[in-house]
Formats: sequence, structure tokens, C-alpha cells
Amino acid sequence: MSVLTTNAKEILRDRYLLKDNDGKIVETPHQLFKRVANFVASIEKDNKTYWANNFYQLLKNLDFLPNSPTLMNAGLPKGQLSACFVLPIHDSLNSIFTTLKNAALIHQSGGGTGFNFSNLRPKDDYIASSGGCSSGPIAFMKIYDAATENVKQGGKRRGANMGILNIDHPDIESFIISKSNEKELQNFNISVGVSDRFMDAVRDNNNWKLINPKTKKVEKELKATKLWQLIVKEAWKTGDPGIVFLDTINKHNPTPYLGKIVSTNPCGELPLLAYESCNLGSVNLSNMITEKKIDWNKLNDIITTAIRFLDNIIDVNYYLLPEIKSITKKNRKIGLGVMGWAEMLIKLEIPYASLKAVDLAEKLMKFIQEKSYETSVQLAKEKGLSPLFINSAYFNKSPLRNATCNSIAPTGTISVIANTTYSIEPLFALAYKRTGILGGKTQIEVNSLFKEKMKKSGLWYKALKQHIFKNGSIKDFKNVSTDIKKIFKTSLEIPFKYHLLHQKAFQKYTDNAVSKTINLPKNTTIKDITEIYWTAWEYGLKGITVYRYGSRNEQILQKCNFD
Ligand code: UDP
Repeated sequence: MSVLTTNAKEILRDRYLLKDNDGKIVETPHQLFKRVANFVASIEKDNKTYWANNFYQLLKNLDFLPNSPTLMNAGLPKGQLSACFVLPIHDSLNSIFTTLKNAALIHQSGGGTGFNFSNLRPKDDYIASSGGCSSGPIAFMKIYDAATENVKQGGKRRGANMGILNIDHPDIESFIISKSNEKELQNFNISVGVSDRFMDAVRDNNNWKLINPKTKKVEKELKATKLWQLIVKEAWKTGDPGIVFLDTINKHNPTPYLGKIVSTNPCGELPLLAYESCNLGSVNLSNMITEKKIDWNKLNDIITTAIRFLDNIIDVNYYLLPEIKSITKKNRKIGLGVMGWAEMLIKLEIPYASLKAVDLAEKLMKFIQEKSYETSVQLAKEKGLSPLFINSAYFNKSPLRNATCNSIAPTGTISVIANTTYSIEPLFALAYKRTGILGGKTQIEVNSLFKEKMKKSGLWYKALKQHIFKNGSIKDFKNVSTDIKKIFKTSLEIPFKYHLLHQKAFQKYTDNAVSKTINLPKNTTIKDITEIYWTAWEYGLKGITVYRYGSRNEQILQKCNFD
């Protein structure tokens, strides 16, 4: 078994290892991996033991980990195993509160929910049944936020939400600034749902109409650029809102005959239809290197087993609602992604901020997608097709069993368990403080590849340690060579151009989406954010999120600033 770090063990003990009624831990990490592997293999007709062992190898070697709810709940009675859901909201109190209840149940089980609030009539609109005035989408989002806040006390982890409002909704201006006060909507990521038509209107400096979704009446007309500037300024100030590019998403919708996609899950990696859920899992790229080269055979084996693992989850899962069960089982969407991309590059000695890295990202994700599709085709032959997915237009050789196969999640917890870097993100810092996973507790993380390299070079001495604890980087440390400095560049030292190019490269071969935060230094300008959001659209990204260092007091990852 791969050695778990102290931080990994602490996280597993806190939320993942099974406890008895008195709160006493009753399993070891080794038993956790066995529990998950056995349960996921239990659906296999032949060779159950063979697959259980294969799945176990994958997990215990930390070569692949599924999303947190699978690790937490597999094998438990009514174990809900998916991380991501989208729920519909229609313009009625009944729909608003039914979906709120369903979201609460999903949060309790460790899943996250995304919603598009654009069907709701705007604030102060007339309500025929009562003769009163509507509260509008933002007021209802606050109710969802309060419910999430309270459910999280009893649930396995913080429930996360994505709130989307379309760019033509009359309340869009208040929505854009709805997280301006740091205390508001803390359990929501917010994104503006933008169309290509809107982007054209910004480019051509045209007017833009805000339309009441209920009456279809034009409520207001303003310059598109005014809204655009409000978005980028607010994102510069607080990190919210992000943007989801709805036309790009729907251009790649694998089941257009089932309706339009209007929302993503909380972190944006999964555009989903109403009631769809999806299981995520990530390959640990840091483990796919043998003797300074990518071990393509090993990667192939891991992908093949991981796709089967994720597909099995659809059949062993417990579904909280019949609607979720129905569409999830029919489309069979899964999302295999990656973590440890930055560490893979470090092991290959390729700087993140280089075109060589971007080219490799494309090559790697192309390989992952091809092997994922090949496996899905094999599974379709062995186990049958997905009932609703008519996929010939998307994969014109043989039909796939899964409407989607790949998705790049943030891996906020599983990468800590696997002791590697988040998702496709560069190193956040060489040493940093992390809050948020363990309630109020803080963990200190020092990148282990960096530590190892410094130890080998005889540089792991007090002055260097002090320096990285204070600064998070070795940019200004004298005794380290320029080559090493290049390879260990941290997030804020990497020009945003490269953040975008990496996101683009991975998105090119990801049928769902890529969750990425463009982490930016404090001195980033509004003009920079404008360029980032605009380029994201031009690159055909499905969504974009930025975060300027220090723009919120409560920040999950922080430099240590220890002297
Ligand atoms: N998620 C959630 N609450 C959290 C973190 C994540 O509901 O506190 C959901 C959310 O839908 C997110 C997805 O899980 O997009 C995947 O997040 P991540 O990869 O960080 O999860 P992990 O599996 O590492 O815990």
C-alpha cells in the first residue's frame, strides 16, 4: 500500500473512515479501500473477485481515486456515491421548495448541486395568486444558502452549490454583485449564463435586452458592454461571478434530443441535464512516471479499470430520487479526470509555463479520452448500451456505453489523500496553509517532490525552509539554480496566458468540462480579467473562474507567512 501522509490520514479519520454509533473509528484506510473495491465489484456477473482485486490495487496504490462520496458511502445502507447533480427550478413556490428539499438530501450525502435560477420571475413582479410581489431569484438563492449552511452541520461535508442566472434575466445586475459582500451566499459559486449572441453584442457595442422569463416582456435595454464590465469588475474584486458559456456547452451536448443544458455542478466540470448525476474519479498522474518518462502502458491499464469502476457505480449506487435514477441510468455519464498534472511535469522536468507542457497536456488528454472511449465501447459490447444515448454522431465507429466519459474535477480532497497536486493546477505554493476540509482546522502542506529535490541537492536547510514558509516560492532565493526555479514555479508566478492554455488543452479532449481556477496575483488589473474572460470564450472553454490572491478574507489556500 502506498504510504499515506499525516495530512491524508487526518482527513480520512475525520470524515471517511467508518465510525460506530459512539463515533469510534472502526476501519483502517486499508479496509476502506477494500470496502469500496468490493462494493463496486459486487455488480460484476463473472470474475467478481478478479475485479474487486483490480479495483483495490488501483485505490491502495493511490493511482486512481473516486470522488469523496464514493469513498465515504460505498457499501453502507443507502450509500449515495455521486458528487455532482443538477436540479431544475421552475417559476413556482412548489418547484422552488421541492428542489430545495432535494438539494438538502443531496448535501447530506456529500453531493453538490447546481441550479439555473433564470426561470424565476424577477424581483417585484406580480403574483396573480396572492396579488403580491415576487421576491426574485436572489432572495431564493439566499434561502438555499441558509439551508445549505444548516444541513452541513449534520452532513458529511460542506454542501456546495452552483447558482447560474442567464445574461438576459432582468435581475442580472443584482445577481452579478450578489457576492460583493463576503458574508452573502457563502455556500454558492455563482456564474453568469452567457450566450454567443451576448458576446457578439459586447464585441459590436450593441444594446442588450433584459427579458421577463414569464411574460417575455422586455424589461430593460442597456449596452451589452455595461453588463460585461460589471461582470469583470466584480470578478476582479471578489472572484465571483464566473461565466458559463451556454452555447459552447450545448454545441457539445451529447443528448440534444433530451433538452438543453442550462447548468453545471458546483465547480463547473459537469454540464448536466435536469436531475442528472455523475460519478467522478481521477487518475494520479504523478504515479504514471517511470524513470522520468510517462508510462503509457500503466496509464492505459489504469484508465481501463477506472472507467469500468465508474460505470459500475451507476448500477450499485443508491439514488435519492426516482428522477435522478431514471436519467442517470439511461445516459450513464461518468467523468474520469486527472490530478497531479503539475507533479507529472515536475518529474519530467518540464516547466508548467511552457508550450512543451501545453503540447503534452493535449497529447496526454487525447490518450486518456481515446482509451476511455475504447473501454466504454468494450463495456457496451459486454454489458449493453445506455438506453437513451444515441451516440453515433459523437463517436462514429462503435457505440459507447456512456454518454460522457471524461471530466476534470478540482480534486480538492482526493488529491490530498493521494498526496499530489490539485487537478491540472500548478503548484499553489511550495508550502501553504489549507483550511476548509477539516471544519475550522488548518493543515500545513509542503510539496514533497520539492522537499525531496532539495534534500538530494543538500539545500534543505533552515534558511531555505524559512524562506518557503514565508514566501511560498523560491523565486528570490539565491542558492537555487534557475532551472530548478523554473520547474518549481508556483501558481501566482505563472502568467495567466499559460493557465488558459492548459485549460484549453485539457478541454479539447474532455467531453464534459474542466474545472480550473485562474489564480492571479493581487496586482492583477481589471483589464487582465477582461482579457481572461474574453479569451476563455474565444478558446471555446465551457466556463471560466478567476481568483485574485487576497480578494477574500476567507481563502482556502494561503501562504503561511511564518517568519
Ligand atoms: N463537492 C461538494 N462539496 C465540497 C466539495 C466538492 O459538493 O465540499 C462536489 C462538487 O460538485 C464538486 C465535486 O464534488 O464539483 C468534485 O469536487 P472535488 O474534486 O474537489 O471533490 P473530492 O472528490 O476531491 O472531494
